[in-house]
Amino acid sequence: MHNSMTFPTPLSTQLDPHQLRIDFPILQTTAQGGMPLVYLDNGASTQRPQMVLDSMNDCYSRYYSNVHRGIHSLSETSTHAFEQARQTLADFIHAASAKEVIFTAGTTAGINTVARSWGDQNLRSGDMIVLTMAEHHANIVPWQQLATRTGCELVFLPIDRQGHVDAEQMDLLWQRHAERIKLFAFTAVSNVLGTINPVQRWVQRAHQIDAIALVDAAQAAPHMTIDIQAWDADFVVFSGHKMCGPTGIGILYGREALLEAMPPFLGGGAMIRSVTTQGFTSADLPEKFEAGTPPIVEAIGLATAANYLSQVGLPAIHAHEQQLTQLAHELLTQIPGLRLLGPEEPTEKGGIVSFVIAGLHPHDISQWLDMDGIAVRAGHHCAMPLHQSLEISASTRASFYLYNTAEEIEKLATGVQRLQTKVTGGGRRRRSAT
Ligand code: PMP
Repeated sequence: MHNSMTFPTPLSTQLDPHQLRIDFPILQTTAQGGMPLVYLDNGASTQRPQMVLDSMNDCYSRYYSNVHRGIHSLSETSTHAFEQARQTLADFIHAASAKEVIFTAGTTAGINTVARSWGDQNLRSGDMIVLTMAEHHANIVPWQQLATRTGCELVFLPIDRQGHVDAEQMDLLWQRHAERIKLFAFTAVSNVLGTINPVQRWVQRAHQIDAIALVDAAQAAPHMTIDIQAWDADFVVFSGHKMCGPTGIGILYGREALLEAMPPFLGGGAMIRSVTTQGFTSADLPEKFEAGTPPIVEAIGLATAANYLSQVGLPAIHAHEQQLTQLAHELLTQIPGLRLLGPEEPTEKGGIVSFVIAGLHPHDISQWLDMDGIAVRAGHHCAMPLHQSLEISASTRASFYLYNTAEEIEKLATGVQRLQTKVTGGGRRRRSAT
């Protein structure tokens, strides 16, 4: 512990991360060099509790079969479990109907589905799509591709120094282009700045001008209660692997009337009602958007993960992460030359803390922390336009989850502080972060 760093009194939390850690086999392992593993890369992907692994293993070992196809009893059992998983996810996000819950490969696949299907059907040259400057590439590139296909235009709302969308610019855009804006696609929580956006208000603003609202909930669904009906959003997407579930699965929620009107994106088995040599007719929702063999076991694992998170309690998870963020802010801001990105106020953020340090490259910070068993992410975090607008090429990001502890945040801050002292004390010269 560096002697110039002041540690606040321990935080009281509504959940006990030490107890929850026992559920996660990987957190019982050590990092390279025998250090305890300090996993602070949850924004990229989280770890899984034993019960998620068990539910998947159980399916493969006892009742696995393809779904919706066979009349044999194994297929009926796996179909039932798969559809039960869909209902669990619908309940998790408070969707009105399980028909509105489409299994995809993840957030990226969900957004591409909307861009290809709804976008190609509805957008024309002269139409406008509004994004924020803080979007992940998954919520930029599919719209750029759509713009190339249709001639529609993309507009990026700038982010102010406090990590919020510039409200005046938004008002101006709405006044000037109400007729042209057809889609407002934005992240609920920034994967770099941690900013929690006012989803409900922004959806209302989209609807006021008859535009569609798509919410990227990749960094929200795992960490806070999501009520799709309260949000009133038209499309919502998120990924299983960021919420204690498996990779290769995610959710595309779509308002039923919109999904009904949209053409299927991928064609093949399962998404059809009938096929002749002349053509095909589409299956009903949700199969219409689930061509081919779906991620069956992954859906079952994801439903177990959703149940696990609900049992722990999403409000408690969110409160715990905000406490960790507050501690991280308090400790990291004591380090000379360190600049936090995004809101200074932890209550405006999820459990994401990104920073830059004058004279230290994020890759070096990450490598240095790795030697202490601390996993953080360095780079542009798939948000290059945001980094360009901040006039930096990269940042270091620590991102928290229910199993992270105050001691881990202290280890992070101590590690960064030691590196900063070493470098400013005449250590080897490093590349600049900017
Ligand atoms: N949007 C946001 C805000 C994200 O953080 C991520 C993952 N980093 C994605 C989209 C893409 O998710 P996936 O890679 O699971 O498709």
